[in-house]
Amino acid sequence: MGSMSVPIRETPTAISYRGRFAPSPTGPLHFGSLVTALGSYLEARHQQGQWLVRMEDLDPPREEPGAADAILRALETYQLHWDGPVLYQSTRQAAYEAALTQLAKGHYSFACGCSRKEIAASGATVYPGTCREGLPPGKQARAVRVRVPDQIQTFHDILQGSLRTDLLREVGDFVVRRADGLYAYHLAVVVDDAAQGISHIVRGSDLLDATPPQRYLQQCLGYSHPEYCHLPVAVNQQGQKLSKQTFAAPLDERNPGHTLVRALTFLGHPPPDELRGADPGLLLRWAEAQWDLEKVPHCAAICSEPDDN
Ligand code: GLU
Repeated sequence: MGSMSVPIRETPTAISYRGRFAPSPTGPLHFGSLVTALGSYLEARHQQGQWLVRMEDLDPPREEPGAADAILRALETYQLHWDGPVLYQSTRQAAYEAALTQLAKGHYSFACGCSRKEIAASGATVYPGTCREGLPPGKQARAVRVRVPDQIQTFHDILQGSLRTDLLREVGDFVVRRADGLYAYHLAVVVDDAAQGISHIVRGSDLLDATPPQRYLQQCLGYSHPEYCHLPVAVNQQGQKLSKQTFAAPLDERNPGHTLVRALTFLGHPPPDELRGADPGLLLRWAEAQWDLEKVPHCAAICSEPDDN
């Protein structure tokens, strides 16, 4: 006798994937930052996860007035809709201060009195360790650094593969609070990724070198490590990353569909001909369904400019 089959109801799984796009408002979105936003968005949506936007406005001297709003407007134009409110790093001072206190209490950090000039004059490629055992007589505390151990750190990047780093010789003791009093990028990123529960960091490969110190900081602060995936970055014909400094053109927002096709093609997902000229929403629905990290070029940089010849 056959027994009645009872449909198995799947217990809803908690959202386990949470990604983010974390632009610095130093200028408007350009093709390179659109590619990073798009790659992290598509991977999050493909994993049925959340995608957050965090505005890394922690370095006012480098910021451009109005850039934060311009970036958010551009994301809306491309229909890259984020989940929840945007987190502004300028509101997070107390959290960064608490992390600095925790590092000091755990003896992970030290006050450093060296100027950039002194470090450069030492000829060392990384911080030479001058103040790591205490400020030498006559030196005043300027910055706060984290003391790295003599250790090889290995991690696996989803796109770039296995990476081995000699923390002491290749990274050196790194700054968590700058001499001008501002919190350093490594500190803010690590504190906020943990506070926002980010499980996957999908960003440009120009930040690959930032990963070993950030992972070490996660260890010092008792945080778990997120997964990492470093996308190829768009470079110009001189091999320079597109940025404000290399005069990257701002995006032409009158024709977002066209730019999105270029960005998808850059990421190894050229849309079919019938979608050329489609609106960003339609292109994104197609890309979400097709998205496969295997198709994304497993390299660090790709030239995004047509050769004039
Ligand atoms: N704010 C950094 C940038 O715009 C990115 C930080 C990150 O993705 O970890 O380069």
